Amino acid sequence: MAQERKKVSVITGAAGFIGSHLCDYLLGKGHRVIALDNLNTGTLRNLEHIDSDDFVYMNVDITGFIDIPGQVDYVYHLASPASPIDYLQMALHTLKVGAVGTRNAIGLAKWKRARFLLTSTSEVYGDPEVHPQKEDYWGNVNPIGPRSVYDEAKRYAETITMAYRREQGVDTRIVRLFNTYGPRMRPYDGRAVPTFIRQSLDDKHLTVFGDGSQTRSFCYVSDLVEGIYRVMMGDYFLPVNLGNPGEYTIKELAEMIIEMTGSRSEVVYQALPTDDPKRRRPDISLAKEVIDWEPTIHVRDGLKETIEWFRGFLADEKASPSK
Ligand code: UDP
Repeated sequence: MAQERKKVSVITGAAGFIGSHLCDYLLGKGHRVIALDNLNTGTLRNLEHIDSDDFVYMNVDITGFIDIPGQVDYVYHLASPASPIDYLQMALHTLKVGAVGTRNAIGLAKWKRARFLLTSTSEVYGDPEVHPQKEDYWGNVNPIGPRSVYDEAKRYAETITMAYRREQGVDTRIVRLFNTYGPRMRPYDGRAVPTFIRQSLDDKHLTVFGDGSQTRSFCYVSDLVEGIYRVMMGDYFLPVNLGNPGEYTIKELAEMIIEMTGSRSEVVYQALPTDDPKRRRPDISLAKEVIDWEPTIHVRDGLKETIEWFRGFLADEKASPSK
């Protein structure tokens, strides 16, 4: 009997934090993985542990034509600057990758007759007036604010994904990712979790923006990747929230990280960035219903893993800063 062909998955943004974990996960599921990245915010360091004949890395900027040889079954589209300091520094590039890059990634899926999954974001809800956020909430985004380059690009990406589905029959999926954390985040990407861990481990002050009463919900990366895979493999094609519904103030997060690292650091308060959402928590009842998914890793367990990883990473950096 002929052996079944291995499924081929393309991942855009594969050298990023979530992308690299998705590579590991799909290889573990027996897929072939074609990893695309232009290393703008990703790094090959996130992929260097992979030793598999089923893995190919290609340096590709998806704002140009994407040329992949052979059959492709699934396209996971993750590529985009995703931390606020990155997208504020790369405003036009963020718009371009969300718009042109998404069109090219769907174009690849269409050409290959592959299923396409867009990783959208909780930022499509903006500074939400509805709490917790359900998928049928249309959001409260300032279209000309500094964050709009990311928020509106992702909203457009959802729009073009649905238009390709309706008009051209591309088989699509959309997930909206809430705050995610874990090993391989960049220590200087400016997000709360890696910043607070780095500051705590260095006994520096933890920079809490505003009065720290704004809330977020933090999902460990292994839970998130499982959710992404289940949406890709399932039948449900409208947007699905993926995140951990446990909600914490940023001050609570900072204090938890100080306690868990045994740091002597203290919290200092700095100005709140423009349009920083005040509250954010996913309603994940749809994910429970359509993909039978909910996070399994408690934030303290996930933070423990993440802190351990950062300890090693920062020690390595200090030992060989050029790496
Ligand atoms: N934040 C903070 N100090 C930092 C980095 C972030 O107080 O050094 C706050 C930020 O203002 C926001 C929350 O932590 O309210 C989460 O920020 P992050 O950049 O992690 O992600 P966001 O959810 O805003 O995209």
